[in-house]
Amino acid sequence: PSLSKILIVSTVGGGSLLAFSDDCRPFLRVFTDGGQQPESKKKKVVVLGTGWAATSFLKYLKSESYEVQVVSPRNYFAFTPLLPSVTNGTVEARSIVEPIRNILSKRPYQIDFKEAECFKIDASNKTLHCRSAQVTNLGGKEEFTVDYDILIIAVGAQVNTFNTPGVSEYAHFLKEVEDAQKLRNTLVDCFERANLPSVSDEERKRILHFVVVGGGPVGVEFAAELHDVVVQDIAKLYPSVNNLAKITLLEAGDHILNMYDKRITKFAETKFQRDGIDLKTGSMVTKLSAKDVSTKDRATGECGSIPYGLVVWSTGIAPRPVILDFMKQIGQGSRRVLATDEWLRVEGCDSVYALGDCATINQRKAMEDILAIFGQVKKDDTNFLNKQEFRKVIGDITERYPQVQLYLKKSKVKNMVALLDKYEGEIDIEKFKEALSQVDSQMKNLPATAQVAAQQGEYLAKCFNRMEKCEQNPEGPRRFRTTGHHRFHPFRYKHFGQFAPLGGEQTAAQLPGDWVSIGHSTQWLWYSIYASKLVSWRTRMLVVSDWFRRFTFGRDTSRI
Ligand code: FAD
Repeated sequence: PSLSKILIVSTVGGGSLLAFSDDCRPFLRVFTDGGQQPESKKKKVVVLGTGWAATSFLKYLKSESYEVQVVSPRNYFAFTPLLPSVTNGTVEARSIVEPIRNILSKRPYQIDFKEAECFKIDASNKTLHCRSAQVTNLGGKEEFTVDYDILIIAVGAQVNTFNTPGVSEYAHFLKEVEDAQKLRNTLVDCFERANLPSVSDEERKRILHFVVVGGGPVGVEFAAELHDVVVQDIAKLYPSVNNLAKITLLEAGDHILNMYDKRITKFAETKFQRDGIDLKTGSMVTKLSAKDVSTKDRATGECGSIPYGLVVWSTGIAPRPVILDFMKQIGQGSRRVLATDEWLRVEGCDSVYALGDCATINQRKAMEDILAIFGQVKKDDTNFLNKQEFRKVIGDITERYPQVQLYLKKSKVKNMVALLDKYEGEIDIEKFKEALSQVDSQMKNLPATAQVAAQQGEYLAKCFNRMEKCEQNPEGPRRFRTTGHHRFHPFRYKHFGQFAPLGGEQTAAQLPGDWVSIGHSTQWLWYSIYASKLVSWRTRMLVVSDWFRRFTFGRDTSRI
């Protein structure tokens, strides 16, 4: 178009040049130095964390209609399933981490990263209070604020000590990369110290007593890895003290790996017994001192004391202080974990999403919806459903809430199974409802795993990618037009199975469809799946070469 007017607007400290077309529509706008830029129309999305949930969200976010900022005290992503392998030198710490800036630089749009921790979420002003994660001597801990339009909380969780006296002071944890490095050094220290001539035999025995508290997957894997290093490397390198090394695994419940299939639990317990790992089930830790673990037997109430050289505490997770504070602010103070709905929106809060270990989906709400669906299919004329109709109901429910499928299948929902047997073709709706509410009480939260966190990150990113389109068509697809419903599908967790490495090149796997596989071949499956799941080709190459190095030269037991 030909220019009819040129207007120069002078502003303090700068100016802007505007060109108008013949019909007086501005089509060119030039800012000179100091001129004010037009405010970005993009919504500002702030992501807290660089773990499984956050990284998956950033990886799948394709839409450029957001201005994204990431805040985390860790400037890398850590592949946590390989942390136990770092504790004994099978894999190097740097092999399992990927700098977050490498990941962000591959995104098609710019993402800002701040290495800082958020210590307060001010939801009413949509502001985050952050503190620089300064760990070197470059400066102090500066504080600053970050505003957001949409907040994505993916800060994970911290170790749960259950306020057991002495745990924070004396126990080692296995949660972060630094924990694994510290453990590796302490382990070597124990053997070096036990080898000194000045140390008494009794002290030697104490130093070489390794106690693992918690028989979950992490505790069991660590105990198994520790046993491997003692048998395969320490026996050769420290022949004089090798036979004094002892591993004890303390579990408060009746069995280890109790979230796995019974066959896996049994195999693991028998293997540990054969390997000489002292497995003490039903044993609760009541206190930790510098040299002793105090225990109490759950059945007999008998108290005991175990001298130790190294204790590893692995008994589960608890919310971080920033989350506890946020929960109080938004009226969730009485809960144990931050609750979201099935679209991962924090309950009682606007434009805030929470995913991964820091939150849980409120299953009770899901159950109410299930019962509502059930109510809709209830026949008007009779109170009974035949088997076919029953299947349809279950089909409707599990299509919308696949997590329920897992629980319906479990044999412990005895009432449900008994009901099916009893009515053989006809199901009493009221009784079925009763049984469903029993399922409700047995419904557990989704497990706190990388699998859940990564799937939630992917799900949310895909919702965000479609958000703009949905805002243009706010009525959404027909199936979600009823009031109170969100325009996206609720989050659906797909369980791909879980591994439990048991040492001696043997792994147990529980795969979908209750398929269990245990042994050496499963270990190779574990190697190939974990290698393929690593976040980049760089880390994949490093980990595979670490495995190769370990097979060829053994583990590195130097203390650096
Ligand atoms: P995380 O991955 O812990 O990430 C949290 C992020 O938030 C971190 O980047 C952290 O630095 C950041 N952060 C913390 N505080 C703040 C703050 N105040 N402000 C801003 N950022 C903050 N799961 C599996 O599925 N399979 C396995 O084999 C498996 N093995 C495991 C082995 C070990 C040893 C451990 C510890 C865990 C294992 N898990 C496994 C569980 C899995 O690691 C977690 O479920 C997963 O890390 C949860 O992801 P997340 O993103 O919620 O939290």
